[in-house]
Amino acid sequence: MMKALEEKILKEGEILPGHVLKVGGFLNQQMDSDFIMEIGEEIARLYKDCGVTKVLTIESSGIALAVAAGIALHVPSVFAKKHKSANMSKDVYTAEVYSYTHKETYEIAVAKEYIRKGEKVLLVDDFLANGNALRGLMKILDKAEATLVGCAVAIEKGFQGAGDELRASGIRVESLALIDSLTDEGIVFRA
Ligand code: 5GP
Repeated sequence: MMKALEEKILKEGEILPGHVLKVGGFLNQQMDSDFIMEIGEEIARLYKDCGVTKVLTIESSGIALAVAAGIALHVPSVFAKKHKSANMSKDVYTAEVYSYTHKETYEIAVAKEYIRKGEKVLLVDDFLANGNALRGLMKILDKAEATLVGCAVAIEKGFQGAGDELRASGIRVESLALIDSLTDEGIVFRA
């Protein structure tokens, strides 16, 4: 847990309909540079002894955190591109991701040359909600025969359950702020 992130969410976050948290002022549209680097350093601290060779995320909102974590771990970061239609190129690994926030399925693609067989990959994202984004990235790692070291997200929406499901299946999932309830009455973090 990162107390400073919880405090920033309480101070600057906005609760939108549908249990959506808006953090556009420091994490999404506008990025607080120093704070993004602090998050990257915290992710690196958690995974520093795991032999990570690459950080992988999905465009666009995961990129800043993946770059920060990659800098702190001294490894490259890669982002999966999003497409609406099927990408038939044989040079990319693809997976389908359903987005509850946008109510549509999109395809993610990573060029094969950027995720090599045997690579030890850390998945990073801004939010973990229903887990579809991370599961899509895991499918890509499977296709690439790369190893999943674990996942790191800035904000986990614990009430949507996916983080605990992933942990129960043996995957390491680290979240820097874990929200158990997000309502008009306010935000409750997991103790
Ligand atoms: P999942 O695939 O785990 O359901 O959702 C993860 C993705 O949805 C994240 O990459 C994030 O961009 C977006 N997302 C999910 N919930 C929220 C939210 O409450 N606020 C924001 N800003 N993005 C969210």
